[in-house]
Amino acid sequence: MKSSSENCDGNRKKSDLPPSDSRRLDAIRGCLIGGAVGDALGAPVEFLNRDAILRNYGGDGVTGYVEFGDGTGAVTDDTQMTLFTAEGLLRAIVRLNGRGICDPVAVVKNAYQRWLKTQDGMFFSDQADLDTGWLIREKQLHRRRAPGMTCIHALENIPCDCRARNNSKGCGTVMRMAPVGILLHPEEAYENGCKFSAITHGHPTGITAGGAFAMLIAYLLEEKDLEESLALVEKHLQTQDGTAETLAALQTARTARTVAELGEGWVAEEALAISVHCAWNHQREFEKGVLAAVNITGDSDSTGAITGNILGLINGEEAIPESWRRNLQEYGIVSRMADDLFQRFDGDPRYGDATREWWEKYPGI
Ligand SMILES: [Mg+2]
Repeated sequence: MKSSSENCDGNRKKSDLPPSDSRRLDAIRGCLIGGAVGDALGAPVEFLNRDAILRNYGGDGVTGYVEFGDGTGAVTDDTQMTLFTAEGLLRAIVRLNGRGICDPVAVVKNAYQRWLKTQDGMFFSDQADLDTGWLIREKQLHRRRAPGMTCIHALENIPCDCRARNNSKGCGTVMRMAPVGILLHPEEAYENGCKFSAITHGHPTGITAGGAFAMLIAYLLEEKDLEESLALVEKHLQTQDGTAETLAALQTARTARTVAELGEGWVAEEALAISVHCAWNHQREFEKGVLAAVNITGDSDSTGAITGNILGLINGEEAIPESWRRNLQEYGIVSRMADDLFQRFDGDPRYGDATREWWEKYPGI
């Protein structure tokens, strides 16, 4: 455990930390910022096929931010929902420690309701406390960037048990689950990743692919390499229900010769497979791996985001080209959340001021 001062003095320099903490912070920052960068790179080509991408942007396709004239990039719903997943789970941890009891699904559901509010979704909640915490006040996140309609509709009609009544396996589950693997141990990450996926998606593959990605991130954060982490995820999937498509997709991800063999990434298991494939083939090459995931016929921003999560975690923040970080419009927001995921202050009431400060950022509701 960290001391109260370590937990709450914000934005500590990596050089101030012991080596193992420094590596962990770098991996978490790489994971979140890498995902955001991949999302922003893919956003303008999400709805173009590979031939059209190469025709429009040259033989290598997209090699940097191409959406805005000033050379910056902007995240989409993938990163927005990743941030709200992080916020929800940090709040759940505060609540658990403060009250001794917590249903994390209900707290994360509230975080997704806050995201829905940023998207001007129809809004029937009678809760007056949704405007709390820092994240919803970030106006940069209140932009509609082609949000997934499955998520919007599910969150507008959320049942009491927080389990979507649709049969969707869209990739909107996988793309937002990295923080679950950052904050929880592998088996908990799988279980909660599945539950948080089920808030918006009803198909077993949509649910278990979200859980599998959270678990993969958790193993990678334990400094297991990609091969061992994937083997452990596959072993776990073999013991769980509803995992046949997710398991098959992961198994073919490493043997496929081309991305096209794995689909287009609109559905959860394909997005996971394409991202694992690109990361597997470029394990020490963040730039090449993410560009391979973006320049595809398919859901480029989601596969870019998921691949960016994986390769950013493995290689750390410095492996992400400096200009991509500097020109990411939401860099400050994503960076702040990454630091908070590292700190994950537990709201211990012995640390009075620190607890109050953290509660204001992450009220346990
Ligand atoms: Mg998107």
